[in-house]
Amino acid sequence: MFTQSAKSFPIPSIQRLPVYLRFLKEQRNRGNTLISCTQIAEEFGQLSVQVRKDLSITGISGRPKVGYRTNELIDAIEGFLGWNREIKAFLIGAGSLGSAILGYAGFVEHGLRIVAAFDIDPVKIGNSIHRCPVFDLRQMYGMGQNAGIEIGILTVPSVAAQEAANILVQIGVQGIWNYTPIRLDIPQEIICEEVKLSASFAVLSSRLKKSPVFPDEYV
Ligand code: ATP
Repeated sequence: MFTQSAKSFPIPSIQRLPVYLRFLKEQRNRGNTLISCTQIAEEFGQLSVQVRKDLSITGISGRPKVGYRTNELIDAIEGFLGWNREIKAFLIGAGSLGSAILGYAGFVEHGLRIVAAFDIDPVKIGNSIHRCPVFDLRQMYGMGQNAGIEIGILTVPSVAAQEAANILVQIGVQGIWNYTPIRLDIPQEIICEEVKLSASFAVLSSRLKKSPVFPDEYV
C-alpha cells in the first residue's frame, strides 16, 4: 500500500509512465520477460536513475542486476494509473472536440468508458456519436444519481463550463477533465485536470521560425 497520497507524486513522472508502458508491452510481445531501467532509459534517452525513480511511484522495485519482470511492471503501472479497471464518465458538449474524444479508441483501452454525452443542441440530442448516446443536458442530474460516474469531461464552450461543472459536482464525480480554458470554481477535493489545447499550440506556434512577411499583394 502507498503511504503517500497519489496526488503528491511528481506529475512529470506520472506523465512518463504511459510512454514506458507502451514500450514494455512491445517488449512483452517480443517475449522479453525481464527488463532493466537501463534498457528503458536507453530507449528514451534518459538517465536510468530517473527511470527507477519514475517506476518507484507505482510501488514496485526491481531486483539488482536482474531488473523487473516485464509482466509485473506492466501490472504495477496499469494499477497505479487506474488503467486496469473501468472508469465511467459523462461527456458534456458533443461538438467537434467532444466527438473526437468519443471516437478515440485509445481511451477505451485505458478503461475509460464514456457512458453518455450531454448537449443542449436539439439536433444532437437523441442521436449517438461513436455509439455513445447524446442526451439533453437537463437529464444529466437525474441520470447521474447513483450511476457510479467518476469523471466528467467538459468540451462545452467556455461560457457553459461552470454550469456544467456544477452539475458534475452535484452528481458526485471525483474528477473533471476540463478541455475549456476556464478555471473552474469547484470543491477542493475534486481533481481537476486542465487540458490547455490553445496554450499548447501557442508554445508550438511561437517557436516556429517566423516566415518572411510578404507585402499584401503576394498573400
Ligand atoms: P458544433 O458546430 O457541432 O456545434 P462545435 O465544437 O463547433 O460543434 P462548440 O460551440 O465548441 O461547438 O460547442 C461544443 C458543444 O457544446 C456543442 O455541441 C454545443 O451544442 C454544446 N453546448 C453549448 N452550450 C452547452 C451547454 N450549456 N451545455 C451543454 N452543451 C452545450
